[in-house]
Amino acid sequence: MKVIRRIADLPQGLESVGLVPTMGAFHEGHLSLFAAAREENDMVVASLFVNPAQFAPGEDLGRYPRDEQHDARLAEEAGVDILFAPPLKELYPKGYDTWVDVGELGRRLEGEFRPGHFRGVATICLKLFNIVRPDRAYFGQKDAQQAAVVKRMVSDLNLDIEIRVLPTVRDNDGLALSSRNAYLSADEREAALALPRALATKDPEQARGLLRDLDVDYVEVADLDGQRVLAAAVRVGKTRLIDNIVLEGEPK
Ligand code: AMP
Repeated sequence: MKVIRRIADLPQGLESVGLVPTMGAFHEGHLSLFAAAREENDMVVASLFVNPAQFAPGEDLGRYPRDEQHDARLAEEAGVDILFAPPLKELYPKGYDTWVDVGELGRRLEGEFRPGHFRGVATICLKLFNIVRPDRAYFGQKDAQQAAVVKRMVSDLNLDIEIRVLPTVRDNDGLALSSRNAYLSADEREAALALPRALATKDPEQARGLLRDLDVDYVEVADLDGQRVLAAAVRVGKTRLIDNIVLEGEPK
């Protein structure tokens, strides 16, 4: 596996390229995306970039888990060909001033509690799509609204990329894998299990009841990209967790 840091060093004109955009701290969720990309493309590129533009002020940008060496090992084992891990200035050089303005879809749910989040997500994805020029890009169902925003952008801006959404990978106890789970103490992790249990009811009222002891941002039924999901965001201590379960539409 090659680690590449400069846009100009990326290979061009390959047969088929699969891109997995990530912020690192790899877990089985990321590895499932790498595996799908490996299966469906000649070349697999994983990007590792903790994108400041998708963090609102006061969020966990500064303490977001970073371990590039460990990630590089896991990516290589998963068959990733290129780890694109640029420094901040490679993607946001001095004078950077252009952003993707996500509409209504970007203001609901996560967008309400993380203002500017999807503007940052859409912008970095569009940049990565233009830099890597993938045929397919891989996203996780765990961030269902993110996947829907990216699909909307691909359609609205006429991008020639297939967006593949892979199922949420969970720990044995049901908690969706997330890089942010590393923040949880043992007690907090126990408390966090209320989230998958609540969503498993597939009923917003019951779910709200099961989440009454947590600090809930939202528990809502939402239509995202033709799929009806029960989605929730909760705070356990200082850690904010999101998860969703498919109610109707193609199950992932
Ligand atoms: P992140 O590094 O957290 O930005 O995530 C990178 C990609 O992995 C995103 O498309 C996420 O939706 C996906 N992802 C994160 N957690 C999971 C999970 N538990 N199962 C499947 N995909 C995931």
